[in-house]
Amino acid sequence: MVSKVYFTDFKSRTAKDNKINKIKKLFKAANFKELMNKNELVAVKLHFGEKGNDSYINPVLVRQVVDKIYETGAKPFITDTNTLYFGSRHNSVDHIKTAILHGFDYAVSGAPLIIADGLLGNYTKNIKIEQKHFKHVKVAGDIENADSMIVMSHFKGHKMAGFGGAIKNLAMGCASVEGKIEQHQCVKPNIMEGCTSCGICINSCPVNALYLDEQGAKMDYDRCIGCNNCIDKCSDSLIEQNWENINEFTEKITEYALGAVKNKKGKIGYMNFLMNITPDCDCLPWSDRPIVPDIGILVSHDPVALDAASYDLVNQQKGFKNSKLHHHHHKGEDKFNGVWDRADGHIQINYGHKIGLGNPNYQLIDISSK
Ligand code: SF4
Ligand code: SF4
Repeated sequence: MVSKVYFTDFKSRTAKDNKINKIKKLFKAANFKELMNKNELVAVKLHFGEKGNDSYINPVLVRQVVDKIYETGAKPFITDTNTLYFGSRHNSVDHIKTAILHGFDYAVSGAPLIIADGLLGNYTKNIKIEQKHFKHVKVAGDIENADSMIVMSHFKGHKMAGFGGAIKNLAMGCASVEGKIEQHQCVKPNIMEGCTSCGICINSCPVNALYLDEQGAKMDYDRCIGCNNCIDKCSDSLIEQNWENINEFTEKITEYALGAVKNKKGKIGYMNFLMNITPDCDCLPWSDRPIVPDIGILVSHDPVALDAASYDLVNQQKGFKNSKLHHHHHKGEDKFNGVWDRADGHIQINYGHKIGLGNPNYQLIDISSK
């Protein structure tokens, strides 16, 4: 039993082969119109990019998907959820302003923009999943309310999850703030010896868990929600990522992905954009140099097959020498492991298979020349 994954590369010498037409062809090949009916509300799940980041999916490409949804008579809206950390998307007011700044306004995307977990990220629905780490998960209310969904993901590296694709977009991306806290609880950072008491990290904490005493910065672990916002703030790198529970973290996010799809069996289509394949996720306020060349766009009805196929295509590339890739530059070597050697992205795929999120065995159907 295999899941179909449709692929197109980016080769283009005529208007017929531009990305706009390639997206239309993919939508047709995967028969995404069967996912939705007239007047249904269709969430187009995106990441609008933290302010300063520019590697998110171009809104002009999102427009093509929105237009295909309109053709079915359904009603699309573009959406994401608020972040745990302080930044430009921590509440819906800031989030919508950032999204518009990045081109996701109605004039470009063609669809209304709704932040799915409400003004402060606390619009949540409890979904029963009965898995190892979570019996219930907390999914954003308007993700749950949508009749169907197209999950559009920029495929790239991720420091803790190994990579970010469809599974990560469902997991952290569809959780309310409370749900994001649950996923992060096991990865609270540590403060190392040598603090100079500069105090810079203190104000970065959204829950006031950091304070200074006579020995330097201290963390109230009961208060900390594991958002990891403080890690990059210390210029002496004294706030360290907690790697001890990193595999548990990745299993947890995969369980959350299961919760996000629970009420939409046969109603979700997934699209991974393998372009600007940066080492980091789009939550960072910068976009580093890509680690491999642009590859193409993949679509599927199966998020596990889609991420597995995307990961394999990335590994088939020759890595860029002047990027954050510090080893595994050769074709066939694990590129995300070559950037983040403490994180294991395969857990998303293997554990996703184990809990019934999808199937890692895929058939890649190349429609590039069709
Ligand atoms: S102390 Fe905890 S909650 Fe505060 S910024 Fe650091 S990781 Fe986030
Ligand atoms: S930023 Fe670093 S050096 Fe400054 S107080 Fe925080 S941990 Fe200490």
